[in-house]
Amino acid sequence: MKKIIAVDGPAGAGKSTVSKIVAARLGYTYIDTGAMYRAVALKCNEELGIGNWERNEDLMAEVLRNVDIKLDESGKVFLDGREVTKEIRTPEVSRGASDVAKSGIVRKRLTELQRDMARLGKVIMDGRDIGTQVLPNADLKIFLTASVEERARRRFDELKAKGLTVDLAQIEKEISLRDKQDSEREIAPLAQAEDAVLLDSTSLTIEEVVEKILQLAKEN
Ligand code: C5P
Repeated sequence: MKKIIAVDGPAGAGKSTVSKIVAARLGYTYIDTGAMYRAVALKCNEELGIGNWERNEDLMAEVLRNVDIKLDESGKVFLDGREVTKEIRTPEVSRGASDVAKSGIVRKRLTELQRDMARLGKVIMDGRDIGTQVLPNADLKIFLTASVEERARRRFDELKAKGLTVDLAQIEKEISLRDKQDSEREIAPLAQAEDAVLLDSTSLTIEEVVEKILQLAKEN
């Protein structure tokens, strides 16, 4: 059985949904690294104000100096001891996360934390640079993708189910922008590792993707 599984891919490809299920089936810990970038962005927004810190490495370094981020077994996210699971999912925080993610200082610190969390094995970690930077020796690497239209449609359905009023074209625009920022940044851009297995989920169900990953995890 593969002890360390890395799942990378663009926003909305289904990484966290399938990773959570795979973790539950294997009895592994699921680590959502995007939630960690989101928590740092929330702290920057709260302490410095949206629009005031996005290109300033010194300000981000200052905020990072005493940040405490914890993920618990049930998927809750804690920032400096306060639960922020829901707060980190707003569009402002999504945009902010993409901004903190460009900072070398932030990436270095979060990468260390993530490696530490994976040290004991039996983990499935998802993000953008897990297979390429954080865990280059992972036993199994998946690059999960889907067309931008499909990813936008899924996010649209998800938000609508929560009773939110949303605009499909707007979501598609935001996802495309994040794809561009994540793929074109200088440090640790979103990229498929050479030894990763590419899974395109555009026309697959969640269960089909889960089954495929479980099969690969069990292969020798
Ligand atoms: O996965 P999620 O959409 O929650 O991630 C939020 C943002 O955090 C991404 O758009 C990306 O910019 C950043 N991120 C990253 N590296 C990771 C995980 C997330 O740069 N390993």
